[in-house]
Amino acid sequence: MITYSEYPPNMKKVKGYNAVTSFASEYGSVRLTCQLPDGNTETIILQEVVHLPGSFNLISQSQIMDKDVKVEPVNHYGLNLYNRYGKLIATTPQVDGLFVLDRVLDRAPESTEYTDIDDSCLLALKTTGHASRHDAEKRMLWHSRLAHVGLKALEILPKVITDAPTMSGKCDCESCIKCKLVRKPFTATTSRTTEPLQLVHSDICGPLETAIGGGRYMLLFIDDATRHTDEYILKYMSEALEKFTGWKALREKESGKQVKRFCTDGGGEYTSKKFAEYLKSQGILKETTTPYTPQSNGVVERANCTIMERVRCMLDDAGLSKKYWAFALSVAVYLKNRTLTRSVVG
Ligand SMILES: [Zn+2]
Repeated sequence: MITYSEYPPNMKKVKGYNAVTSFASEYGSVRLTCQLPDGNTETIILQEVVHLPGSFNLISQSQIMDKDVKVEPVNHYGLNLYNRYGKLIATTPQVDGLFVLDRVLDRAPESTEYTDIDDSCLLALKTTGHASRHDAEKRMLWHSRLAHVGLKALEILPKVITDAPTMSGKCDCESCIKCKLVRKPFTATTSRTTEPLQLVHSDICGPLETAIGGGRYMLLFIDDATRHTDEYILKYMSEALEKFTGWKALREKESGKQVKRFCTDGGGEYTSKKFAEYLKSQGILKETTTPYTPQSNGVVERANCTIMERVRCMLDDAGLSKKYWAFALSVAVYLKNRTLTRSVVG
């Protein structure tokens, strides 16, 4: 390395060879002197190289191609690398299925601290495995972009997004394996309303770890017919009624419909006299699910579970602490409302 800076501990997560993720310790520029077939040498500077202790030295083919390096296969040999002016800058003979950069060992600069770059530099992506690995990376990108959505929901992506990869196989996302609980399938809800706001499900979750901004509770309103979800972050449970009146006014005006039934598990704030009186004054029928049988409020339980799982996955993937949950929650709900669901026909 000719220049380097240190990362704070556990900050930069990098996926290395075989998709093993670990934390990088430093980043910087690396100088490589490459041996050319005519006996001359060519110096290449790689920028934004990350140092993963104990890892191979890998150069990503797709990344150097992004930097205008042309990679050309040479029969029975390996690959030739050309710069944007068509000048040969490096060759990589194929050794055991990998392309090894043909280079002259640089003499270490004054400091011997970073001379542990060993003498072989591998071009990371084998041409044969390129397509499938590229697809797998793309799959992970979309999976992460959509807040760690399940594969089922991703399968339909190529039909609606031209750039999306074909989804198949199983999810090998580390954050999902770590953060999603193995759970019994929820019982399918039998009755379904057909009109927006006919039936609204609601739940308050908390107290959770205090979020940035001071929020400690998550309040959800889910429309039964469309499964559209709105989330509110509360500091105190007692804010629920005020949030509900605001939400109701907004969604009623928007849809031209009125909330008719309001379904909760009958806990916490919903038992308050004020809440009951308000529902009564609005002519809204209050429905209460049976306590301790979450299946009976399947819609909101399922949404709760899905949303909180995605929040945990996003925070884990990003290496952020739990106090960021409120931001992740907004993103998870935003994406949930835009993800295709089997619950809604069409
Ligand atoms: Zn995931």
